[in-house]
Amino acid sequence: MAKPLLEVHNLKVHFPVKSSLFRRSRSFVKAVDDVSFEIFRGETLGLVGESGCGKSTTGRAILHLLKPTSGQVIFAGADLAALSGEELRKKRKDLQMVFQDPFASLNPRLTVEQILSEPLQAHHVGDPDERRQRIAEIMEVCGLSSSCLKRYAHEFSGGQRQRICIARALILKPQLIVADEPVSALDVSIQSQILNLLQDLQEEFGLTYLFISHDLGVVKHLCSRVGVMYLGRLAEIGSAEKIYARPLHPYTETLLSAIPVCDPRVKKERIILRGDVPSPVDPPQGCAFVTRCPKALDICRTERPALQKAAEDHYAACHLLR
Ligand code: SF4
Repeated sequence: MAKPLLEVHNLKVHFPVKSSLFRRSRSFVKAVDDVSFEIFRGETLGLVGESGCGKSTTGRAILHLLKPTSGQVIFAGADLAALSGEELRKKRKDLQMVFQDPFASLNPRLTVEQILSEPLQAHHVGDPDERRQRIAEIMEVCGLSSSCLKRYAHEFSGGQRQRICIARALILKPQLIVADEPVSALDVSIQSQILNLLQDLQEEFGLTYLFISHDLGVVKHLCSRVGVMYLGRLAEIGSAEKIYARPLHPYTETLLSAIPVCDPRVKKERIILRGDVPSPVDPPQGCAFVTRCPKALDICRTERPALQKAAEDHYAACHLLR
């Protein structure tokens, strides 16, 4: 069986909460709490959940832009935490990120040419002619005209800026791209263009994606597998086909019920959750979803459900699976 390109084992990212200037912190925000999954070469795993569920923190911790509190991230067989600073810097060539906000993630003082040549220079790739050639190629595959090279980021629309961000992520020929809500800051009309571009680039370059989104509707068209996060934990993970056809976790059912259906003949009842998401500083003792779950049992308040296999490539953390 093929080995995964990325393995995440029991990843935790806990941030200390400072209670006052002089007292040491005793509590922690458990932004990511014991998350494990793998991604195979050439596939797209969608990581979905409400704002604040820990999906973006997971993405950043995978790239070691944030130091994990514990757990392992193994990329192409290498444990990233065991690498020296210089080794990690070199490894970053293969792991790139596309951020949510194309307005904030481009330096306004640099031209497009400078933005794209920066990573090449930092990693000592090619001579000036080869860099120019590489930039021209990437601009073309990302649907940007070479006449844009001397212009600044603020001169472009949101969709074009996100194309520049994607070109910057691709310029070093990475293997894995973590795309953190790459279309949520864009107009609906532009979103599908960027999603199609990501799909075309994946086919052309054999890319592997971790695609982070709050919207299961967006993820459906791009991802072969989906992980659903709630309050820093994985609620459900598996093949997209199975999760959309037969969700096992009540939280996934809720998210799916919110996807609009275009066909007026199809009647769909939206599940409205009561109550707020509990604080990640003091999550419920048992199931993280117990305070809002319409199907909660007594055991859910005291015992944390483990992620268990329900079918081939389909896992969920819910006592109802027993
Ligand atoms: Fe709901 Fe209990 Fe399942 Fe949690 S474990 S999702 S509270 S039924």
